[in-house]
Amino acid sequence: MTVLEMRDVRKDYPGARALDGVDLDVERGEIVAVLGPNGAGKTTAFELVLGLVRPTSGTVRVLGERPGGRVRTRVGAMLQSAGLPEQTTVREVVRLVGRAYPQALDTDDVLARTALTKRASRTVTSLSGGERQRLLLAMALVGAPELLVLDEPTAAMDVASRRTFWDQARASVHDGATILFATHDLAEASTVADRVVVVADGRIVADTTADALTHHGREDLEEVFLA
Ligand code: ATP
Repeated sequence: MTVLEMRDVRKDYPGARALDGVDLDVERGEIVAVLGPNGAGKTTAFELVLGLVRPTSGTVRVLGERPGGRVRTRVGAMLQSAGLPEQTTVREVVRLVGRAYPQALDTDDVLARTALTKRASRTVTSLSGGERQRLLLAMALVGAPELLVLDEPTAAMDVASRRTFWDQARASVHDGATILFATHDLAEASTVADRVVVVADGRIVADTTADALTHHGREDLEEVFLA
C-alpha cells in the first residue's frame, strides 16, 4: 500500500522555489530518511504532507487522500517549529494531544515507551533538550499514527541520546507504520533508514537504499550533499 505519493510537486514562495518537480512514493512500513543541506526543501515537503501548505502545482496524496482534513488523525508529526506549553506537566501535554485522536494510545504507556515516566509530573519547562525531543516524539506517537513525519528529530542530541531516541521511535511505531524523517546527517540516515532520499535545491538528486549508500556511492553523495 502506498502511504505517500507526490507527483511533480512544485512549491514557490516569493523569491524562492522551495520544491521543484518532486516525485516520491513511500510504501507502508518503510523508514525513509530525507537528507539534504539547509534550504534544500525538506521542511516544505513535510508541511505539504501534513496539509499545512498547499503545492503551487502537482499533487500530494497521504493514505490515498488529500493531506490535512480527516487523514490528519492518521499521521503523527514532530516539527522543528513546534511550541510547547511550558507550564503544563508532561503527562497532561501527552493526554491533551491524545484527545484529538479517536484511536489514541494510553498516555502512561506512551510515556513509558519514550522513557518519560520519571518526568511525567514535571512541567515542560524543566526538561532537558533531549527530554523535550522525546516529549515531541510522545506527542507524535500517542495518536497511533500510520505515518510518522519527523523533521530533524535528533538535531542537537548527543550520540547516545540519538541512539535511544531511534530505538524508542522504531519500537513504538505500530506494526507496519511508516516513518519519514529529515536529517542533515549522512551516518544517521544510513543507519536508521531503509531508504535515503537526497534533496538539494528543491529536487530529489538521489533515491537509494541505505545499504547502497553505506557500501557504494557514498563519496558521490557527500559531494552532492556538501556542494
Ligand atoms: P533546513 O535544513 O534549514 O531546515 P529545509 O531543507 O527544511 O532546510 P525549507 O525550510 O523547506 O528547507 O526551505 C526551502 C526553501 O524555501 C528555502 O530557500 C527557504 O528560504 C524557502 N522558504 C521556506 N519557507 C518559506 C516561507 N514561508 N516563505 C518564503 N520562503 C520560504
